[in-house]
Amino acid sequence: MNIHEYQAKAILREFGVPVPDGHVCYNGASAREWAKRLGEGPWVVKAQIHAGGRGKGGGVKLARTADEVRKIARDMLGMTLRTHQTGPEGKVVTRVLVENGCNIANELYVSLVVDRGSSRVTVMASTEGGMDIEEVAAQTPEKIFTETVDPLVGLTAFQCRKIAFSLGLGGKLVNKAVSVLQGLYKTFIACDCSMLEINPLVITAEDELLALDAKFGFDDNAVFRHPKLGDMRDYDEEDPNEVEASQHDLSYISLTGNIGCLVNGAGLAMATMDIIKHYGGDPANFLDVGGGATIERVTEAFKIILSDKNVQGILVNIFGGIMKCDIIATGVVEAAKQVSLNVPLVVRLEGTNVARGKEILAESGLNIVAADGMADAAQKIVQAVVAC
Ligand code: ADP
Ligand code: MG
Repeated sequence: MNIHEYQAKAILREFGVPVPDGHVCYNGASAREWAKRLGEGPWVVKAQIHAGGRGKGGGVKLARTADEVRKIARDMLGMTLRTHQTGPEGKVVTRVLVENGCNIANELYVSLVVDRGSSRVTVMASTEGGMDIEEVAAQTPEKIFTETVDPLVGLTAFQCRKIAFSLGLGGKLVNKAVSVLQGLYKTFIACDCSMLEINPLVITAEDELLALDAKFGFDDNAVFRHPKLGDMRDYDEEDPNEVEASQHDLSYISLTGNIGCLVNGAGLAMATMDIIKHYGGDPANFLDVGGGATIERVTEAFKIILSDKNVQGILVNIFGGIMKCDIIATGVVEAAKQVSLNVPLVVRLEGTNVARGKEILAESGLNIVAADGMADAAQKIVQAVVAC
């Protein structure tokens, strides 16, 4: 789960990480009012979308007067912002952050991520703030410094000082960096983050450190522990099918291919995607209906797949262990009744109640291609999609 920059900054403020004063606004008039309340200017108006690269795309603008803040906010609100992270379709801006502009002397980069290799939180820092870190990693990896955190000890002041020295900081800035880095680590742990990126962390002309941009990723499986985070979720920023799926307890991730997959079990879902690829096809989604899915849940899953305009064929691949094949079959028939099924459907059923499941499908009168085994199923759906 992701949140907007203004929400991220509110969390950081709570944990004592310095951020500029600012306020979210939904129209030009309130942007002007908030600018006046915030101070004398200049201000920065920032489009709030769940994507970076806004600066280059025209989503971060400097304003010298409150009237200018209003004008910029008005122009930004409602516009479709395209950045290298939004894809060509872009994202519509529905809210802006108006915040105090600061005198930037230097832009740094800091992030915390869970490093799967060491199974630990790792701090990454670089002198190349404001740039894409992927680019820095590819071209000048020596400019990225990392510190791995021992979970029992936490991020120590010693490690923070080491990072500060690597970044070339001296004098009072070293202690300020220790405080910022430890604040970020505290935030990361307390909020069950999967990543926290400050790009840029700036040194101001007044020798202060400020987090000028903030990006959070939260572990979806821990969001329930943080009711406040749930309230910050912006469904407009998420894939509507994924939102619908999560409301029915389905693990669904939308992909770019054209073969819809309905599978039970995450491992089988991965294997199904692999075998589709192996036979030259391209999956439209990952979907795990779970072990104990009901007819209603299977129906919803089927409807979600069918609502994806890219889907040109569906592969149902079920191994009935806990899940019973007749439940899946009934769900498929139910869904096909509720939504017109106008793409080829290949079904591979195996396991508990498989005979009854096959009967239900055969009696339904639906145009279903039965398959024996995964390879057969994958070949059949790939061929059917190519043919149509
Ligand atoms: P993005 O990463 O989406 O492009 P940022 O929030 O990082 O957006 O802003 C891009 C750039 O705009 C920053 O690197 C910084 O130079 C400048 N900037 C952002 N916020 C402010 C601010 N409050 N005051 C001064 N400059 C800012
Ligand atoms: Mg940024």
